[in-house]
Order: sequence, then C-alpha cells, then structure tokens
Amino acid sequence: MANTPSAIFTILSNDLLLSIAPYLHPKDISALSLTNKLINNLLTSAQGVYRHIDLSPEKKRFQDVEKLVSPTILSATRTLVLDFTLVAVAQLESIVHSSNITLLSIRGCKGIDERTLMAHFSPERSTKLKGVYYFTDPAPTTSRFVRKSATKFPNEWALVISNRRDVCFDTRLCRGSKHQIDEVGSTEPRISEIKLEGGCSGCGIYPTSKGLPNVLVAPAPLHSSTIRVACRGADGKPIADALRCEMCVRERWCEGCGKWWCESCAADKKRVTRPCLECGFQCGECIAAATLFCQSCKSGYCTTHNEGADDVKCEWCKASPAPRGASSTASNAFLTSAAISHYAMLRQTRPANTFVKSHAGASYRAGMGGGNFRNETIARRRALMNN
Ligand SMILES: [Zn+2]
Ligand SMILES: [Zn+2]
Ligand SMILES: [Zn+2]
Ligand SMILES: [Zn+2]
Ligand SMILES: [Zn+2]
Ligand SMILES: [Zn+2]
Repeated sequence: MANTPSAIFTILSNDLLLSIAPYLHPKDISALSLTNKLINNLLTSAQGVYRHIDLSPEKKRFQDVEKLVSPTILSATRTLVLDFTLVAVAQLESIVHSSNITLLSIRGCKGIDERTLMAHFSPERSTKLKGVYYFTDPAPTTSRFVRKSATKFPNEWALVISNRRDVCFDTRLCRGSKHQIDEVGSTEPRISEIKLEGGCSGCGIYPTSKGLPNVLVAPAPLHSSTIRVACRGADGKPIADALRCEMCVRERWCEGCGKWWCESCAADKKRVTRPCLECGFQCGECIAAATLFCQSCKSGYCTTHNEGADDVKCEWCKASPAPRGASSTASNAFLTSAAISHYAMLRQTRPANTFVKSHAGASYRAGMGGGNFRNETIARRRALMNN
C-alpha cells in the first residue's frame, strides 16, 4: 500500500467519502475534517460532500436549522432534508427562492404556514427547486401514504400542483373518475392520499403506468439529487396510476389491510363497510378479525376501540350491572345502523367468540379516541352523543 500512487488513493477516498457523506450530519463532517490533514484536504477539495444534508434526526428537539448549517455549506447543497425540524418563515423563503437546492424535504416541519407555502409555489415566483416532499408519512402503517395531519387544504394544493408543472411533489392530483367533468358535473380536484397496492381484489387488474405526471417517491434518494432518480420507486419504475383521494376509493378500499376493488368490481357491491367509526372502512376479513360478540347482549363490538370491553362482554355490559335488552334500541346505542346490520350478518357466520388478534387493528386510530367506560353514566352519555 505504501507505493500506491497518491492520486489513486485520493480518488478512492473521495468516492468513499462521497458515499458516506449523505449519512453524516454537517457537524460530523466538520469534525471529521479536523481529525487529520489528509481527510481535511479531501473534504475541502471533494465536490459534493454537502450535496445531501439530512437534519431530520434532530426532530425531537425542533432545532433551528440556521444555527446548524452555515450559508456556505447550504450553497453546495442540492438535497436538504428538514423533516420534523423548526423552519423559520425567512428561511423557507430563501430556500425556495434563492438557494441551489433541487430536492427539499419538509415533512412534519414546525413553523410552516401552509398558505404561505402554497404562495411560494405560485406560477410567477421562480425557484430552482425540482422536488418538494411535504405530504407523505415517513412511517405509514396503512396504504394511506399521506399523513392525515399533513394538510388542511387538499383541494387548494391540487390547484397549486397543477399550475406548477416544473416542481414535483410527493403526491399528485387524484385521477379518479369523480373529478372528470361529465353531465352531472364533477368534484373539485384534490390531491391523492391513498396508494392502491397491487391489483384489484376482484378481477386482478393492475393500474396502468404510462403517461402519468411525475410524483416523488419518498424519501429523498441518498446518492442523487436529480428529479429523475427521485421519481423512481424501489423497483426503479415511476409510481403507476394507483394514487387516489379518499373520496374516490370510498367503499372500495380497506383501511385495515389495503385491499382494494376497481370501480367496475365495486359498482354493484359495497366491498367495505364501517361498523366502527374509528376503524374506518374495512373489508369483511379485517372487521371479523377485530370483532367479538358480547355474551351478555349478543351485539358485536370492535376490540380495538371498545377499550372498556373484555373478551366476554362489551364495554356497556361490563360497566352496567344489568345486560342491555336485545330488543331495545339502546342495546346497540353506540353503534351506527350500518354497524348493527353488519354485526348481525357476521353473527350468523361466526357464532362463537373466535377472537383473532387483528394485525392491522392497532395500527391506526381516528381522532375520536376510544374511552374506557368506567361506569354506566359515561356509557349512556356516549350513546346519546352518537344517536
Ligand atoms: Zn415565496
Ligand atoms: Zn376489478
Ligand atoms: Zn379523487
Ligand atoms: Zn381488510
Ligand atoms: Zn374500531
Ligand atoms: Zn354487551
């Protein structure tokens, strides 16, 4: 090794540094450059050590990005990941309009006003940005790939995105038939929130993949800052026509396991129902897996959200000394009418309490929150609220 020409050594080290740099915090790169003269020379001469900067591990402390990265470093950066950091108004302004950054990831950032962000992407404002990650959930547990809390303006964003063809986002306009204009009119354009995985559970048809607008595949790639690479999935291909808004997949997509049915397979038959408001629309298998039948009142209950229930009794019967009468309307008071009929149907096929722990049941919770019913009074109050 002693005789290895130093030029080769430099090239090899350069490559090595460039491939590990995206994993390092800028502070670590600076620290590394102080360790020895050779490394220092390499780092200061290497083009691109600061190409990809990821500050998101700081998420727990919501640190100020300005204090972490100097303007000199930023001018050499092409991919900047700020997920879950605190982004100041002025900082966002300068990143969007006067930096060299191509790919910007600002998912779950504090300090970003959505209206202001949308205004930055109005057609008359110039930017070098080619891709912005804003909507996607970094750790999705269902095929809902856009975080529920990501945006309050799914329709307004659709307009921003359609007017800004030179910038890609991590979702695209829903191409579902509900938005196509016909005699009946159409629903407003809206961004996609759901990714239909695989093929239709009915006929097996797969979404097409030709001639679609670009969409970023999160997260930002480590070893390239080009939009072409950023829009390719793990399989090397762009995302097929599988992105839809919540309205377009209603009653044909299961929020539990992600199974879906194409529009013609769902045309004459509801494929999913919502017996538990908090579980959302689910297929029969997912509902069966999360449902038990109370041995006292014989009604069904969701084991994920009936927190006061046990394996034998529903939360109502457990809290109340007397069982709910099978005929009284109060017996199913906290279930929707769709739920009651669905449970009645299930009861015919599953007479015993064959409880299967739901793989999906625990992975999502809607905003209502299942309460523990400590006593009958609370149970009654909830019953009244839901009627
Ligand atoms: Zn602006
Ligand atoms: Zn189908
Ligand atoms: Zn739609
Ligand atoms: Zn399912
Ligand atoms: Zn539930
Ligand atoms: Zn009961």
